[in-house]
Amino acid sequence: MKKNRNIIKDLTSKTLGILGGGQLGKMLAMSASNLGIRTCIYDPNINSPAFQNTDTYLNDSYDNIKTLKKFINICDVITYEFENIPLESIRFLNKHNKIFPGINPLKYSQDRYLEKKFISKLNIEVAPFYKIDNINNLKLSIEKIGGKGILKTRRMGYDGKGQVIIQNTKLPKYNISFKKNKYLLEGIIEFEKEISIIAVRSKQGKVTCFEPSENYHKLGILRESKFPANITNSNKIRAKKIATKIANALNVIGLIAIEMFLCKDNKLIVNEIAPRPHNSGHWTIDACNISQFEALVRTVFDLPLPKIKYLNNCKMVNVLGENFNQITKSLYKSNHVIHIYGKDKLEPLRKMGHINILN
Ligand code: AMP
Repeated sequence: MKKNRNIIKDLTSKTLGILGGGQLGKMLAMSASNLGIRTCIYDPNINSPAFQNTDTYLNDSYDNIKTLKKFINICDVITYEFENIPLESIRFLNKHNKIFPGINPLKYSQDRYLEKKFISKLNIEVAPFYKIDNINNLKLSIEKIGGKGILKTRRMGYDGKGQVIIQNTKLPKYNISFKKNKYLLEGIIEFEKEISIIAVRSKQGKVTCFEPSENYHKLGILRESKFPANITNSNKIRAKKIATKIANALNVIGLIAIEMFLCKDNKLIVNEIAPRPHNSGHWTIDACNISQFEALVRTVFDLPLPKIKYLNNCKMVNVLGENFNQITKSLYKSNHVIHIYGKDKLEPLRKMGHINILN
């Protein structure tokens, strides 16, 4: 009991540093605050939503050494909610302060080609993929995968950005400026369902997986996540095994989200990994005893993670700029829990909030 009192007292003097001030940083800061932990958010955008819910923030570019040093001095532990932080900055921070979930997971998740290569080396299936550096590569590779594929930028693509479908070696009308190490081509997977798993790996190497959610995307953007996923138990177990294998191989300390395609023949194909809280895990905020955000905070501060309990079924619906008014309807519904991110500008296809519909 005395030891526990010290843990809690200790926490109130601690600061969690979060690189990235988007909605994920905001919800992470709220969870840290619930445990009495202070936060410092680092983001170059002065209008970052997470600045609304933090004790302190640093508003500078991610490569400013002076500001990075300041960040090190303020924070006890550092994590990231945004994947495209320059690796040199992460390495610099890591020399002085521990970065969770680590540098390695970020190295792979920042580059779709390295990511797919790494996962396939673990004998986990991914879509067929080819490095594309010029038009000849593209023509040869597209033939190999039956004349149809998705050309994706290796870096910086999210929410379907930087992706274009290529069919029958005909290039799209707009120009693609080929450059070494810029693109990869993926075969198109005819999946039955998309699912994802949030895996939590402790400092002692214990992996706990949240149950999978079933996800629905449109134009490359997540629209809905449903818990429980309507898939067989044996597929749930297989998906969790895959997630555990990846979390262990990357030596993750914290969270990693793994998105997968489930095919008709029951094949599970990994599409993408993200070593941070994930949009498809937002249902955990209102449906579980511990959310993905709290699980991350507990892990990086080496706090116990009790068994995850599922208190409700849940459908998480993303609110995009063009649908912002749907929140008004939800205000009248007793089983709708509203989360608004507080972004500065309402834009079509921009994630402005989400609603967790409980039943
Ligand atoms: P990504 O940015 O790679 O996660 O892609 C966003 C969404 O596009 C995915 O969740 C899928 O719905 C779709 N998608 C991406 N890659 C593929 C693929 N190789 N085959 C089929 N659908 C894909």
